[in-house]
Amino acid sequence: MRHSRKPHAQSLLITRRHVLQGIAATGSAFALSSCSWSPRESGILRFRDDPFSLGVASGYPLSNAVVLWTRLAPEPLAPDGGMSPGTSPTIVPVTWEIAEDEHFRKTVRKGVAPAEPAWGHSVHVEVDGLKPARDYWYRFTAGDARSATGRTRTTPAPGTLVDHVRIAVASCQEYEHGYYTAYQQMIRDDPDLVIHVGDYIYELGWGKDLVRSHASGECLSLGDYRARHALYRSDADLARAHAAAPWLVTWDDHDVDNDYAGSVSEQGDPAEVFLARRAAAYQAFYEHMPMPKRAAPTATGMQLYMSRSYGDLLNLYMLDGRQYRSERACADQGRQRKKRSRAEWCPDFNDADRTMLGAEQEKWLAGGLRQSTARWNVLGQAIVMSYTTEEARPARLHWIDGWSGYPVAQARIARELHDSRVSNPVVFSGDVHAFMAADLHLQPDDSESPRVAGELVTTSITSEPPPESVLESHLRHNPNVHFATGLARGYVRIDVSPTLLRGDFIAMDTITQPTSDSRVLASFVQEAGISGLKRA
Ligand code: FE
Ligand code: CA
Repeated sequence: MRHSRKPHAQSLLITRRHVLQGIAATGSAFALSSCSWSPRESGILRFRDDPFSLGVASGYPLSNAVVLWTRLAPEPLAPDGGMSPGTSPTIVPVTWEIAEDEHFRKTVRKGVAPAEPAWGHSVHVEVDGLKPARDYWYRFTAGDARSATGRTRTTPAPGTLVDHVRIAVASCQEYEHGYYTAYQQMIRDDPDLVIHVGDYIYELGWGKDLVRSHASGECLSLGDYRARHALYRSDADLARAHAAAPWLVTWDDHDVDNDYAGSVSEQGDPAEVFLARRAAAYQAFYEHMPMPKRAAPTATGMQLYMSRSYGDLLNLYMLDGRQYRSERACADQGRQRKKRSRAEWCPDFNDADRTMLGAEQEKWLAGGLRQSTARWNVLGQAIVMSYTTEEARPARLHWIDGWSGYPVAQARIARELHDSRVSNPVVFSGDVHAFMAADLHLQPDDSESPRVAGELVTTSITSEPPPESVLESHLRHNPNVHFATGLARGYVRIDVSPTLLRGDFIAMDTITQPTSDSRVLASFVQEAGISGLKRA
């Protein structure tokens, strides 16, 4: 019989007394940044249930560093993760280690990080001193419990022109709509990096033909959002994908509230009420993502936009299109209409002050693009950036949640990509629950104007698509849209070389069964030196 790690029958046995005993053993009360605390000494913490139920993750790789993540949650669906039963919440020391081999024979760094109740007992460790472009394995220990082992990969050193980088792009994973079979294939693809472009969770349930249930209502409080993230992360395929490769993430509306814009909620709540809810959602997002500490939320918000590079081959700019955006155009008209995601033309569309990214982020992006020496420059963000309409141009109705609902900001970013003369810009996006391949033009609504970037739009991992007739009309009425279908769930597999960026649309056969085969539905490439996509 296997030795059990669960020696006690009573409720979770982490108590303040245990932690103090553990720390007293070294005489350094709560001085957890020191590496001297050893869980093998007296006062060992005992967990009745696995505190690593949410798995492990890594993210935001550099050539010498990476962020390691876990969150202690022996009762993952409880608002506090089951970390404060009958006692005041405690800080728990968590030992982390990272090695050059999966058996931890060659451990290169080790330390102790505090899992604090104020951050949902999440741990974000920024490990540096690593070698470029190689695999590392990492794990955590808390009391008598040890986590699964994760694998991560550093980026190539600055200045090197690498031959190949593989990236998987994911979006929109409504838990109720199906199983995350896409992540099984994604892991087999062995990507250097996974990018998630938003709707990682859904704050509310919706859709028909549900395969599983949130078993709780719309998220409003920090406890609600924590429990929702924990539910999603308790999916074994999603957890394995986090343990298989480093991730970069951005968010979209459902990570907080459907169709919100800045401080404006879907239902038009008072700004201070909505901002409190938004802060709760942002905090839970941070607590569950392998993000560096500089992204930790503050009183005013959370700095999510960040760039990473793969030598001189590729720069990636992850953008935040929700936190700083102006209210949607023609709001009054929109609220009165039944289909409030669309609006007829109103003067807001011409307002040069309306923004998608906010002035500061736009400036940061422009600076990055102008300084970039990378062969490829990718914008990773949630919403379709190329101009599209569902009607013959000029369209009467406009989709007001997307970039085309912010036409001045859309034209400004196209102009920046053009005028900065940045090398080979490409856009990765999601949101529409459909695969699309499109081109962003200098005058976004004028397909005769120069192409500035190809855009690869990933379908949803699970979320239900719009009627296929909507995608057909995108294809019919927009010469800059080369491909559009919502019939498949899956992700985009990107292979980048010095001469070519290729996107394979990976379609899963099913999401209603726990496992699935997949196929390449279509492939598009952008050749170095030529703007825009073509079918491979
Ligand atoms: Fe979505
Ligand atoms: Ca969305």
